[in-house]
Amino acid sequence: MTSGSRELVDPFGRVVRDLRIAVTDRCNFRCTYCMPEEGMEWMPRRQILTFEEITRIARICVDRYGFEGIRLTGGEPTLRHDITELVHQLAALGIDVAMTTNAATLRKIAGDLRAAGLRRVNISLDTLDREKFERMTRRDELDHVLQGIDAAIAVGFEPVKINAVIERGVNDDEIVDLARFGRTKGIEVRFIEFMPLDATDEWQRNKVVGQDEIVARLSQVWDLEQMPARGAAPADRWRYTDGGGTVGVIPTVTKPFCGDCDRVRLTADGQFRTCLFSTDEFDLRAALRGGESDEQIAARIEAAVGTKWAGHRINQVNFVRPKRNMSQIGG
Ligand code: SAM
Repeated sequence: MTSGSRELVDPFGRVVRDLRIAVTDRCNFRCTYCMPEEGMEWMPRRQILTFEEITRIARICVDRYGFEGIRLTGGEPTLRHDITELVHQLAALGIDVAMTTNAATLRKIAGDLRAAGLRRVNISLDTLDREKFERMTRRDELDHVLQGIDAAIAVGFEPVKINAVIERGVNDDEIVDLARFGRTKGIEVRFIEFMPLDATDEWQRNKVVGQDEIVARLSQVWDLEQMPARGAAPADRWRYTDGGGTVGVIPTVTKPFCGDCDRVRLTADGQFRTCLFSTDEFDLRAALRGGESDEQIAARIEAAVGTKWAGHRINQVNFVRPKRNMSQIGG
């Protein structure tokens, strides 16, 4: 916490200190579990927050509430024109800037992003099989993504992590192969349970491969030791006892971790959200463009955080999917 800041606390006593910012809703992939093949309606350019607007919200969160980190996401954040400049502006706030990316073009810009102040990257990689990669992302880009991972390691992002969404009958046969890939590269793979945030409403519970099953499959090959509680981070983590590094699972569906959640989100069009699954949004773009003071915008953030749910309702009969899919919210 910097002097003059105070904690932003939600109604359940959780301290909010992690902001995820979607910088665009556009993507160069069309992952089946996230977007439709065609027909996405992109947000009009004038509705997308400018770098100055994004940085202003970030500064309010940092100066007033002591946020220590920001993660850039989307859509695909590297598609945002001049993204290195935004990283530079955010890093100048003195915080830890991270990015979640599909890495399709990372080989070209990893060095610039690192120099601009980006410290950490999570790279999405759901399969090591070229044909399956093309089926899952609807793009033939596996080689470029692998080059992006190597570039991320080479320029010194610390840590580099792999995010792998596992969908039953699609890539659950690759859990061990993906884990082995992470061990070979010396980076952590985090398996993500498939969430009901796809654009085509195809999510079904039986397509979710849960944490217990993932860990059981890994345990058939390696001896694993669970690491201490995660804190606010979304992944449960295990150590390979042979010294082969660590592996994680983000068990959003089967073992929700909402009780420890410290996250809030800002969509590319300036809507503030308190949960991936919330059905309410708070329009900070209108506030920014309406000439409101930092004080007024902070009051809106506090009011929004005052509505943060105890937990998502995926496992309840009255669960209502958010209107937007993952790429529009910012995963
Ligand atoms: N384009 C970037 C990328 O691919 O990492 C950032 C945005 S993407 C929406 C962020 C993360 O959300 C990715 O790791 C992606 O695999 C994950 N994701 C998207 N849809 C999902 C779903 N329905 N269930 C679980 N994870 C999902």
